[in-house]
Amino acid sequence: MKKITLLDHKAKKLAAEPETIAPEFWKTKTLAQMNEAEWEALCDRCSKCCVISLEDADSGELYRTDVSCKMFDTAACQCSDYANRKKFVPDCVKLTPKNVPKLDWLPGTCAYRLVVEGRELYWWHPLISGSFETVHEANASARNKTRPEGRLKTPGLMRRIIQWPEPLNEPPKKRGKTSSRRASKAD
Ligand code: SF4
Ligand code: SF4
Repeated sequence: MKKITLLDHKAKKLAAEPETIAPEFWKTKTLAQMNEAEWEALCDRCSKCCVISLEDADSGELYRTDVSCKMFDTAACQCSDYANRKKFVPDCVKLTPKNVPKLDWLPGTCAYRLVVEGRELYWWHPLISGSFETVHEANASARNKTRPEGRLKTPGLMRRIIQWPEPLNEPPKKRGKTSSRRASKAD
């Protein structure tokens, strides 16, 4: 088993320059044609790319674990120190228009991959839903689903191979408001 390298997952604010983002740019532009703001906005912040996969050296098959890069903050669902990450994780891979098509360990739901494959973004993507929370509501993110790598070596990682949940196909139905009553003691 070979450990797959990890992704350079930017924790910058999405759409720092919203005025430079063309409407539905992901449908009309290739990755190489996107400007920086569009490139950043394309990330749905699922952070599944910060989760470690194992590759079978013989078959090339990928197995996903529930173990994340040591820098990943699972509750915040982002890199804990993006600015200095390379000091601690030198093999953190920076996504580029050139390497995205070759990175087979990116999850199938990764928006960069979807654009390369000419597929639609999912309903939970912030560019579709208008919210950064929907990726979590859809169960499509790594938030609170991982433990850090720590000292785990390959045998330990192999024991952490899991089947990740399938994201929801559509938004969950909102629960109706419930009223609660405070019990009062009448002695
Ligand atoms: S250093 Fe780790 S947590 Fe940070 S972006 Fe890279 S893979 Fe993700
Ligand atoms: S959309 Fe792709 S690059 Fe962005 S966090 Fe998800 S897997 Fe990583």
